Amino acid sequence: MTFVAPDVPPSDVFDRCVRCGLCLPTCPTYVETLVETSGPRGRIALIKAVAEERLDILSAGFVHQMSECLDCRACEAVCPSGVEYGKILEPARTQIVRAQAPVRSWQGRLGRAVVIGRLFGNMAMMRAAARLLKFYQRSGLRELIRHTGILRAIGMQDMEALAPRISDRFFTPRNQRFSPPAARATAFLHAGCIMHVAFASWHEATVRVLNAAGVEVIVPRDQGCCGAITIHAGEMALGRELAKRNIASFERSGADVYVINAAGCGSALKEYGHLFHDDPMWQNRAIAFSAKVRDVLEYVDEIGLPPRSLGVVHGIVTYQDACHLAHAQRITAAPRRLLAQIPGLELREMEESSLCCGSAGIYNVTQPEMAQRLQRRKVERVLAVAPEIVATANPGCALQIRNGLDRADAGEVAIKHVIQLLDESLAAARTASAVR
Ligand code: SF4
Ligand code: SF4
Repeated sequence: MTFVAPDVPPSDVFDRCVRCGLCLPTCPTYVETLVETSGPRGRIALIKAVAEERLDILSAGFVHQMSECLDCRACEAVCPSGVEYGKILEPARTQIVRAQAPVRSWQGRLGRAVVIGRLFGNMAMMRAAARLLKFYQRSGLRELIRHTGILRAIGMQDMEALAPRISDRFFTPRNQRFSPPAARATAFLHAGCIMHVAFASWHEATVRVLNAAGVEVIVPRDQGCCGAITIHAGEMALGRELAKRNIASFERSGADVYVINAAGCGSALKEYGHLFHDDPMWQNRAIAFSAKVRDVLEYVDEIGLPPRSLGVVHGIVTYQDACHLAHAQRITAAPRRLLAQIPGLELREMEESSLCCGSAGIYNVTQPEMAQRLQRRKVERVLAVAPEIVATANPGCALQIRNGLDRADAGEVAIKHVIQLLDESLAAARTASAVR
């Protein structure tokens, strides 16, 4: 049974962990439970035990720990021995999925085939599903269904509340080209799967900010989902197919950079090289592709905005570090530098800003109890600094914190992507210069 990628000798991961425990205080599930097996050190020992056939792969404890781990990578970022934890977690999950396949119920197989195979693999299907959800959210049906109590009865109340509000207008890739007067670079904008139907306003803000920075934005039609959710669910083969589509689309586009405004997707896109470690046909293409991927905040921080282009935005803001931006991509300073450039905005740091909020892809659906514990913990830290805005860089964090603030009846705290605040600031400067 393989628990590490062929390009990584098993001893490199398992024996590199010297059991120092420095990762423990950064692990959200460990700090909540204080149970050794709910921390990185314990999980590494469990994976090693299964790899050495001392523990059954389908033992309840092992399956639970591989699901309870958020894959937030906080442990990896602080490990002094350089243990690449993510490189053993994903293969472990894939092996569990394979081992479960023969005993999976027909309902389970159908659910995986429809949600993972059809929805994330086919963006037209994603838009069709989003239209249905939009009808449910806007027609009054939602209020009716909520009123009946049926959602609570079938255990879907929390899942329903966490569903994103579908955008009024989708940001469907149609080979759009948004060109500023004198472009200094061309950026390929990754529209994503859920992002293009539920976070269209983030994409619109991204286009305006990049144009203001003198960057042309293109949105090629033949792109698709990054594959992160598929890969996290252990469906590696489909994840690779989705990755190939994006690599080929970027190569055809001739763009200079591949820009993404969702941290989780960005992290997956930057790891395509590893995804194809055993495929000589695609590995070099994947490595070249990943080298061009930039989180939009990383990119705007790098290229800069024109002098005096930002106007006043009043507000007290706290910044939530998305795990896949802070730990997986190690980007923490750029978003703060950009927020600090906005006149009128006061940045108040919360405690544990980089501790996972419990979103982690579909974790809040698969592990609702731990997700809610982490959500409550995050909301307490947020409210302690009394912000008017929580700024983030990932849709999952935005949904999870919004839901947590609503549960806590926290009043008027807005959740925004940093790029939206920059967009507001650019608009404020334009308005100010128009009235002068
Ligand atoms: S910090 Fe690294 S070496 Fe230390 S226990 Fe954690 S994974 Fe092992
Ligand atoms: S990835 Fe996150 S949740 Fe999983 S062991 Fe590491 S720190 Fe803990």
